[in-house]
Amino acid sequence: MPVKNRLAELLPEITEWRRDIHENPELLYDLPRTTALVEEKLRAFGCDEVVPGVGRSGVVGVIKGKSDTKGRVIGLRADMDALPMAEKTGLPFASKNPGKMHACGHDGHTAMLLGTAKYLAETRNFDGTVVLIFQPAEEGGAGGKAMVDDGLMDRWGIDEVYGMHNEPGLPLGEFGVSPGPIMAAADEVKIVIRGRGGHAAQPHNVIDPLPAACATVMALQTVASRNTDPLKSVVVSICVMNTESAATNVIDDTVTLAGTIRTLDEDVRDMAEVRIIEIVNATAAAYGCTADIHYERGYPVTVNHEENAEIAAEVARAVVGEGRVHYGRPPRMGAEDFSYMLRARPGAFVNVGNGDSAKVHHPEYNFNDEAIPYGCSFFAELVESRMPA
Ligand SMILES: [Zn+2]
Ligand SMILES: [Zn+2]
Repeated sequence: MPVKNRLAELLPEITEWRRDIHENPELLYDLPRTTALVEEKLRAFGCDEVVPGVGRSGVVGVIKGKSDTKGRVIGLRADMDALPMAEKTGLPFASKNPGKMHACGHDGHTAMLLGTAKYLAETRNFDGTVVLIFQPAEEGGAGGKAMVDDGLMDRWGIDEVYGMHNEPGLPLGEFGVSPGPIMAAADEVKIVIRGRGGHAAQPHNVIDPLPAACATVMALQTVASRNTDPLKSVVVSICVMNTESAATNVIDDTVTLAGTIRTLDEDVRDMAEVRIIEIVNATAAAYGCTADIHYERGYPVTVNHEENAEIAAEVARAVVGEGRVHYGRPPRMGAEDFSYMLRARPGAFVNVGNGDSAKVHHPEYNFNDEAIPYGCSFFAELVESRMPA
């Protein structure tokens, strides 16, 4: 079974929604236009329930299958937010909002889930219930967590949950899905190394925080090289080093460092936090400085449940054929806040090919509209095969 005919028919309409959302990107939880569009469409499709304001600005739609019994409840999730960056695609439907861009394809994810909703609401060729989850603030705002904390899973009795992300470089019409950890936990560290500044020509009269900061950056590399089991994964990237003064003859009182820590399991995550704090304090002390450390945990590891990853792979094979589904790929060190939903319920996150496009978060990236029938058919087939009428 290739893509569903009805969904192929809907492609021009879904493409129009996608481009409309693309042209009007909004950030984090501040999504008045996007959520109004989603709400209006869900109501127009005849969803049994449409609830805005879940997890601040998330929208939930409910579609019941043919029979009256409750049956299984499957959650399907899309993210709606854009990124704070300038678009350089030159497309006729490029962003009209300066400094905002749909550079991660969430415009496509939202449009695909809307297309799926339209199809499911008119066909209802399944038993049980589908909960459509449109979440805000995936890009750093933990909107997935906000919806889970707002009772998403219990309010609608969701049994299992699935999400999808487009993947540049994965050919059009192909899928990737893997069991176990697929994306990393992303934590952040901000460090202020404190010395005592003064004239750069009199280093003996100051406590220079800069050599301490440089030594700290180097010493932190040993978290990966010396403290982590070589068969496990960690990234410690210090990406910021700032002094207040731009003068070449001034030694500042402080140097600020900041970076990201990525891990794929909780033991390594705990160890990295402990070691980073120890190394920063001890290195600063070795140079006569002190350190303030602010360590903040971000999105957890995204872990696909084995059974659901297998179900998702089976569904993808039914849509595009055996050879076009990549199962069991190695994890990546990016992060994704669908992780919060997968901690609350069993489920899986799948990738759909975006073809040979610019990478996500690049100013020339564009969601590939030709991926729409594949993404929608996956969701529809998942519902119809997992909850047969
Ligand atoms: Zn992104
Ligand atoms: Zn994304």
